Amino acid sequence: MSHYADLRRGAASHYDRAWHQANPMRLPNEVWDVIVVGAGVAGLAAALEAKKSGAHVLLIEKMGNIGGNSVMSAGMMAVPGTPMQIEAGLVDSIERFEQDLLALGSINQPDRIRILANKALETFLWTQQELGVQWYDDRVEYDEGHSVRRCAILKTESGEGLVYPLYERCVVMGVEIRLNTKLVHIVREPETGMVRGCVVDDGTTSEASTGRFLGTRRGLVITSGGFGTDIGMRMMQNWRLSDRVGTTTQPGSTSEVIRELAAIGAWTMHLQYIHCFPDASPDEKGLGSAWRFARYCAAARGVWIQRETGERFVNERASSDVRSHAILDVLNENGHCHALADARAVERPRSVIFSAKDVEALVARGLVRRYPTLDDLAHDNGISYKRLLATLRTYNKALKAGTDRDAMGRPIERGALPMEESPWYISNILAKIHLCGGGVAIDRYARVLSIEDDRPIMGLYAAGEVTGGLHGVARLTSCGLLDALVFGRIAGMMAADG
Ligand SMILES: Cc1cc2nc3c(=O)[nH]c(=O)nc-3n(C[C@H](O)[C@H](O)[C@H](O)COP(=O)(O)OP(=O)(O)OC[C@H]3O[C@@H](n4cnc5c(N)ncnc54)[C@H](O)[C@@H]3O)c2cc1C
Repeated sequence: MSHYADLRRGAASHYDRAWHQANPMRLPNEVWDVIVVGAGVAGLAAALEAKKSGAHVLLIEKMGNIGGNSVMSAGMMAVPGTPMQIEAGLVDSIERFEQDLLALGSINQPDRIRILANKALETFLWTQQELGVQWYDDRVEYDEGHSVRRCAILKTESGEGLVYPLYERCVVMGVEIRLNTKLVHIVREPETGMVRGCVVDDGTTSEASTGRFLGTRRGLVITSGGFGTDIGMRMMQNWRLSDRVGTTTQPGSTSEVIRELAAIGAWTMHLQYIHCFPDASPDEKGLGSAWRFARYCAAARGVWIQRETGERFVNERASSDVRSHAILDVLNENGHCHALADARAVERPRSVIFSAKDVEALVARGLVRRYPTLDDLAHDNGISYKRLLATLRTYNKALKAGTDRDAMGRPIERGALPMEESPWYISNILAKIHLCGGGVAIDRYARVLSIEDDRPIMGLYAAGEVTGGLHGVARLTSCGLLDALVFGRIAGMMAADG
């Protein structure tokens, strides 16, 4: 009890200070009905819905461009029951999607998940009908952790296909969007605890000044995304996530907003669950493109091996968190991880958008290396040929014996072929920080909850990756965009309602 009393006192004195610093006269420099902070998918969706509900809306973004991590995403979104799934004869349901999320996340919040799953199809159709977003209408992609093929794919094969239609709609509707405008403080009224706006640094104020106070009449919506690029913050949560581990996230994915939320008395949760992308390549920046070889060829039809031992080190089809931790273990011993495939694995990737032709392009860029013999591959990459051969023999034996799972516990697919055909392909792999599973706590209406009494903080909403509770201990892939859209829309509507 006394611990929470201390937290309460700390938060109250922080927002009291911020309030007086913001404006000693308590008068904002300008006032909006709704201000949205962060122009990724969650922020754009929130701003659009708030505007449609009749509010006067300002969307601020600290970077010089919109899009956040959303625009860099691979453009895959898990949705049960799409016309593409039906066309492909795939049996899926809302309940099955919920189960997949809960099975992996384990401590994630069932009520949050229920909303996400229930609104998934409706949201997907909304992107098509209202925004004109173009999804492949004849393809449904595999993604790790899903018990059925259920990922819709943007025709751009990146988040651009979603972000720009959302942005254009916001502009047409009259949302004001300001770039290079960074939230530095959230302003709570000391007497009532109500959020009355935020203080921003937009480069227009002098150094001595404390920034501009932008007031809100109805609501402040926080959609500032994760903090994957913030090495200090992520190491505070998990010391292994140092600068040796790369990131797929954009430079603006830092922690100042989540720190500010905590300081004004918002609950934060699950912050230590920072999810990595295990299939990434250390030879390119960010997410890059070689991950598709590592995932769809090597992890599905080949193997992942450690250079120093010549052996497999993980079930290549385990959850992305299990695989990431295994890679980090190798990294911490100064080891190196590789994805390995033979000719047949490359001819038949486990993907509806990635083919042998794409592997050729990766070979041409030097991201995947090709060798006429396994011996050449081993020699050139500093791997013991003898040990590598032994590893492949064990794997092939399991395949030929017709067992359900191989020695690492990977389920053996029907029609899987032994690895024995040249040429041979190899790439380097490294887990990179990808998505922050934790963040601020919200309720089903996207209202931010207070440490003072677990109740909503009046006038404050949040959505997207800045929130915690959806992913839990392990991330079900392709749910980030859906989360941002579903809860972004809810937050915008709720904020406009006041
Ligand atoms: C490379 C990559 C690929 C991915 N691929 C997929 C995929 O295929 N499918 C999927 O479902 N998920 C994917 N994800 C995850 C998904 O993209 C994110 O979870 C989702 O886009 C988050 O959306 P958001 O709007 O919450 O945050 P973001 O899109 O990151 O937007 C947050 C915005 O807030 C801004 N901001 C931060 N702090 C401030 C501040 N102080 N003031 C003002 N603005 C601020 C940021 O600059 C940023 O523009 C991927 C992630 C990455 C990094």
